[in-house]
Amino acid sequence: MTTQASPPPPTSPAGTKDIEDYEPTIMETEGGMPLGTESIMMAADPKQLSGKLRTRVVVLGGGFAGVYTAKHLAEALGKREDVDVELLSQENYFVYQPLLPEVAAGGIGPTHAVNPVREMARGVNFRLCEIDSVDFVNKRVRVTQGEGRRIIGVRYDHLVFCVGKISNFSTMPGVTEHGMGMKTLSDAFELRNHVIRCLELADVEPDPKQRQALLSFVVAGGGFSGVETVGELCELVHRSLEYFPNISKKDVLFKLVHSDRELLPEMPPKLRDVTKKVLEQRQIELVLSDRVRSASPDRVYLKSGRILYTYTFVCTVGNAPNPVAKEALSAGGFEEAKHNGKATGLFATDEMLQCRNKPGYWAVGDCAGVPSPTGVGLCPPTAQFAIRQAKVCAQNIAATIDNKKLRKFQFKALGMLASLGQRNAVADLMGVHISGFIAWMLWRFIYLMKLPGFARRLRVGLDWFLDLFLPRDLTQLSTSKKQGLGLRHYEPGEVIIAEGQLARELFLIKSGQVEVWQERRLDRPEKLLTKLGPKDIFGERAMLNQAKYNSSVRTITAVDVVALSREEFNTIMDQFQVLKDHYKATQPEIFEKAAKK
Ligand SMILES: Cc1cc2nc3c(=O)[nH]c(=O)nc-3n(C[C@H](O)[C@H](O)[C@H](O)COP(=O)(O)OP(=O)(O)OC[C@H]3O[C@@H](n4cnc5c(N)ncnc54)[C@H](O)[C@@H]3O)c2cc1C
Repeated sequence: MTTQASPPPPTSPAGTKDIEDYEPTIMETEGGMPLGTESIMMAADPKQLSGKLRTRVVVLGGGFAGVYTAKHLAEALGKREDVDVELLSQENYFVYQPLLPEVAAGGIGPTHAVNPVREMARGVNFRLCEIDSVDFVNKRVRVTQGEGRRIIGVRYDHLVFCVGKISNFSTMPGVTEHGMGMKTLSDAFELRNHVIRCLELADVEPDPKQRQALLSFVVAGGGFSGVETVGELCELVHRSLEYFPNISKKDVLFKLVHSDRELLPEMPPKLRDVTKKVLEQRQIELVLSDRVRSASPDRVYLKSGRILYTYTFVCTVGNAPNPVAKEALSAGGFEEAKHNGKATGLFATDEMLQCRNKPGYWAVGDCAGVPSPTGVGLCPPTAQFAIRQAKVCAQNIAATIDNKKLRKFQFKALGMLASLGQRNAVADLMGVHISGFIAWMLWRFIYLMKLPGFARRLRVGLDWFLDLFLPRDLTQLSTSKKQGLGLRHYEPGEVIIAEGQLARELFLIKSGQVEVWQERRLDRPEKLLTKLGPKDIFGERAMLNQAKYNSSVRTITAVDVVALSREEFNTIMDQFQVLKDHYKATQPEIFEKAAKK
């Protein structure tokens, strides 16, 4: 890369640059020039060259809230030269989250549930980057961007927080490692591939226990995303079974775990009952008034003490504030919204969507605590609300810039719909309760009409039309997720490796205690060999020898391990002479054996 051709970085009349190297002192140099010099690219921006004072509105996040705020801002501002709108997000696409369960079930293609941000928010500068934090003193958003992961500061006059929430499973040991989410496109795509893989593995699995775990599908959370996910998964599996002659319908188990006694608590009681009935008719076991305590590779542990054996665990609970919002709340001295007297981790806004007592700062969508237009509590964290808030926020920012009157956010929810899969749904539309096939048709029609862009509507419409006649696609695509190094969690009494198993992994204990033992055989009793704890390694003898494990390892306490796959282990051994020397010295007999092979 060269910086020679780049014109000198212009400064705005305010004496500040819109984009600048954030901490040049910590940056390395490249070709003798400070790395990051070429990131000062205001010359490419004609508005910048005009030398007029520009107001910069920076929108953080490319979800419903961010994209619609930026889009409406661009519309409200038209071709004005004095205001610049920039949208920052870590993906260049917007995810239509309500369709994720359909992606997971193969009802629509994965890219049909997303839209390119640049296409949706025309007239807005889009920056693909990771938002790190906000420097409130210098009014810069600190971001990491580009191939070189350069840290830069993006100047703002108005800042709109639209970073949503994140999935956080840290209160349930093992769920981060072994649970799957339903929030991002890759969550949905991976789940689809994983489910088909489980069917393939179960088809050839002779061990009944393993087979049962492969054919058990557990979803946690009885809200909209949990109910829709279990319903859609059930449809995918049932429709696929005709191609798996070794698996019968009664072999497959679905379980929905929910902490409350009622599913879909936001729905009217009548529709909750219908939901329950429909799911139960499909042999989906409803595990109500119970919670997930922890998870391990093939188990989900519940608070009640029950253990569910499964290789597929989808966790739709455990939303937490986005770390960017969390940090900004305290660093920027923002007021935090409260719900029933409890802090929510959300930016408290007024009815105009402006952060309380913070002129120039706005919040929209799931990360915002917006007073409900009903006068009671906060707006619900739904796309329906985020889209409407975004419009009002954009208009109010434009009004603020022009010193005009701001308007209040007013919106009455139009209703709620939940798809239950297999051409069934429940809907509450302005107090009218509908269920069954008509509700399902309505669900599809309404979501189709709400999809942004004609092309996307056409694609999803076609997918749905073809899905009425054609079987689901059973192609199992391998995802990019590397198996190399993985974190695992086990509860007490679980077997991590079993004697006689072909060695596939080496383990390093992060925390907890295990016991190493030899199983009882005809010629010998069961024997405890040793106990291991944090920083101990096991499995290396068999890995070095490319052989079977010669003992079993069982957990005594809850244990966290780092597992290294055989491929990675071999690569490391080939590359690091020091490791080879270490094992040669400590396990000479294994090396001799390996050399003879
Ligand atoms: C499975 C599912 C089904 C749903 N169904 C419905 C439904 O039927 N109806 C309904 O109204 N609502 C539904 N919702 C809720 C709805 O999707 C959310 O309320 C809505 O997405 C919130 O929008 P948001 O923009 O506030 O947050 P998000 O959509 O979460 O967007 C946040 C954005 O910020 C970006 N971001 C976050 N952190 C960073 C960072 N550090 N750096 C860069 N970018 C960052 C993210 O990439 C993302 O683009 C559903 C949600 C799910 C998960």
